[in-house]
Amino acid sequence: MTQALAEGPAKQAAVVPLPQLLELDSYNPSTLPFIPRAQLEKSGQPTYPALEDWIDIFRHSIGSFRRTAEADSSLPEAQRLAAAERFASAYLATVNEVEQEALAASSSGSDGSSSSGGRRLGCLELCQLREEALRAAGFVDIFRQIKAKENAGALGLLRDVCAELDQHTEQRDRWDAVLRGVFAGNIFDLGCAATTDMYHQEGISFHASRDKLLARPWVVDDLDALLDRLCSHKYQRAVLFVDNSGSDVILGMLPLTRELLRTGATVIIAANSAPSINDITAAELDALLPQVCVADPVLCKGVSSCKLQVVPNGSGLPVIDLSKVSAELAEAAAGADLVVLEGMGRSIETNLHVKLSCDTVNLGMIKHPEVAASLGGRLYDCVCRFRSAPDSTPQ
Ligand code: MG
Repeated sequence: MTQALAEGPAKQAAVVPLPQLLELDSYNPSTLPFIPRAQLEKSGQPTYPALEDWIDIFRHSIGSFRRTAEADSSLPEAQRLAAAERFASAYLATVNEVEQEALAASSSGSDGSSSSGGRRLGCLELCQLREEALRAAGFVDIFRQIKAKENAGALGLLRDVCAELDQHTEQRDRWDAVLRGVFAGNIFDLGCAATTDMYHQEGISFHASRDKLLARPWVVDDLDALLDRLCSHKYQRAVLFVDNSGSDVILGMLPLTRELLRTGATVIIAANSAPSINDITAAELDALLPQVCVADPVLCKGVSSCKLQVVPNGSGLPVIDLSKVSAELAEAAAGADLVVLEGMGRSIETNLHVKLSCDTVNLGMIKHPEVAASLGGRLYDCVCRFRSAPDSTPQ
């Protein structure tokens, strides 16, 4: 498999490793092993989730992606119904094929590598194949209208969310509220069955989600250490890998950006180069900045002073391979002393164990039961991982 169609406009652009990425040779953007059930059984390991369960997530996603594609008004109706059918049948065939390949490789005793270019099959490869199937059927951005609607709704709440944060007089409470906002925003995820159903059936409220975050301890819970660090240290330059449109980026990650700006940091927001599911793209976020500036003076000053920059990350997937980011992002990230990976795809499924040369924070909410089982957590559990730079000790 190549770096693909899924990368859309970014496919021709050079990609390079994030400068902070350590152990490049052994880096693998795949946290959760896809192991056939028979193999798990044989080795006496828990048999759920097995490769077959991971594949089922993608197989079951086809229906909701097809319905979203059928509603994509950028294509004439007759054309898009046929195109949605082409996507659905092509991706189903691909998913079935890679599953059979992986199972056959396993039973023949090979290492399970599949058509994914020698690397084991994982979330990243299945996401990429889905994007390729959408592009091949003629779709560019089937979530465009949903993203625009959610961005407009979230922008209308940004001023109030910032004002609420400003009511916290204690620094630790304030950072705690900011981080809880990040988790609450991350529930707007149309790549997962549970949250997609929630979105279409009852809608998703940022405030209600924030109030209903699961009780700590979370499945990965370094919140205390992270709060200690945030209250005792001023970062110079932070790179924030953002995830979804709407409340996720606008009410979760922009307030985090705002807090970092308030402490004097330069903040690079790394957003997708090309569309994927309901993830915000760099171009979309950039276009929202004038409205963001109207809503909040701190963010506005960040934009006007270039201390807040939006940079395309080089990817068109809902996950990220940090060995392949855009040269533009690598340049902007040079010298950064903090990297924040946000969202289930980037922070949990592909980079939970990543080793970087600077302080690293993974923030995400678990929205697949399979991910919850794999990590020993609960559905809607939070992952808050903080790792200080290898050569430093948090003060
Ligand atoms: Mg996403």
